[in-house]
Amino acid sequence: MRKISNVVGKCRFLVLVLIFIGILNAQKPLNNDIIRELEKSSSKGLKTRTTNKTHPKNNVKEKSRIKKTKKRISKKNKIKRRNKWKKKKRIKKKLPFKAFKKTASGALGQPFRGRLAVNYKLRPSRNYIIKNPERHFNYGTRWLISTIVTASARYKRSLGKSFTRIVVGDLSKKGGGPLGGHNSHQNGLDVDIGIPAKGLHLKGFTSLPNSRIDMRKTLLLLKSFIDTGRVQVIFIDSGIKAGLYKYINDNGLTRYKKYLNKLYHEPGHRDHMHVRLRNPG
Ligand SMILES: [Zn+2]
Repeated sequence: MRKISNVVGKCRFLVLVLIFIGILNAQKPLNNDIIRELEKSSSKGLKTRTTNKTHPKNNVKEKSRIKKTKKRISKKNKIKRRNKWKKKKRIKKKLPFKAFKKTASGALGQPFRGRLAVNYKLRPSRNYIIKNPERHFNYGTRWLISTIVTASARYKRSLGKSFTRIVVGDLSKKGGGPLGGHNSHQNGLDVDIGIPAKGLHLKGFTSLPNSRIDMRKTLLLLKSFIDTGRVQVIFIDSGIKAGLYKYINDNGLTRYKKYLNKLYHEPGHRDHMHVRLRNPG
């Protein structure tokens, strides 16, 4: 009997040991699963929001992890934006002369996307002031340089004693192409001219109210350029254009109205007019 009870006791012990081992083995994969889950969540970042049952707001670790992934994403977006901007910049790079059809005048392509193959420099004169000669943005086609010289001489003649020198701004740079501060001025056909002020000898561009702009001089300046027959368009602030209309109507100068047809409004042209010549080919 004793032997039987001993055997039964041993069996019980064995069964208990086996159950204990079984429990241990069952727990192991569970632990492994949790570790794997945590690893996954750390690599997936924001995606854990959906898998984790506890609200992220209550979990500090989760919060910091989300912050990190957000930062990572914003960094990626920043790089993407920078690359886009670089692409845009690349487009603005000046194109080689080969990219354009040759012309006799040397003006290649468009004023906003072009080059200057034949360079003529605007020399100093008594009829005009070159605003920033040190920038060397005073190159253009022969067509443009001769137009400025002729128009300024005509302007001087038309004004007589009341003549004040024209202020000439940027033309194009040597060889043309993109010019800092301008969208156009790329192919030697554009020039910026200052708006004359009443009783002032301006040496640069100054933004003035209509009451202080010399409308008579402005009108004669427009006339002297347009009468060369080379002007395609003149960009100017619409407020100044309205002032010129008023001046023409007030003084019965209807024959001058035709000169205003070439004027087009362009923001940022309160202190100067932008004269664009047609491409002679
Ligand atoms: Zn301009």
